[in-house]
Amino acid sequence: MLLHACCGPCSMYPQQVLKDQGIDYDMLWFNPNIHPEFEFNRRLENLRLAASHYDVTLHEEGICMEDYWLSKEYLSEFSSRCLMCYDIRMDMTAKLAKEKGFDYFSTTLLVSPYQQHDVIIKTCEDKARKYGVKFYYHDFREGFRKGQQMARDIGLYRQKYCGCIFSLDESEFKEKILKGMN
Ligand code: SF4
Repeated sequence: MLLHACCGPCSMYPQQVLKDQGIDYDMLWFNPNIHPEFEFNRRLENLRLAASHYDVTLHEEGICMEDYWLSKEYLSEFSSRCLMCYDIRMDMTAKLAKEKGFDYFSTTLLVSPYQQHDVIIKTCEDKARKYGVKFYYHDFREGFRKGQQMARDIGLYRQKYCGCIFSLDESEFKEKILKGMN
């Protein structure tokens, strides 16, 4: 399986589930939504730690795409920024899963109670049909708290906003976050 991972902490519980189920998987970093670049690199670095904790191969794709977000060009095609954000990430995941010969793909976005779970499922199902690769579904939300504790236990950085420039703007911790980046 190719498991798309949005960050290290969110990968912990899904990885444990896959290990417990005896599923062989690699992980994929493809999160061009994350802003600013400092944060992009920090989340990637922590995902590398989470991958090495489970001794799993991590494929790294994409760069920070702040200009595209600011242009809002995507709004002509998608009804919301989150739909676009799920779409581009799941499109790349399913495409790469097919190209690299994986049987299934999935995403750690399914662990978060703060994401639009049903929209993510539908997006993944659409991409599975588009590329002819199977989507593995598990409601990882059952282990969200456990996963966060697992992340704490191995010293992973846990972010306080979803990732894009707008979610940073909306965060009540914005000032603190920006201060921590200096
Ligand atoms: S809030 Fe999160 S899911 Fe929505 S667009 Fe921003 S980073 Fe993507």
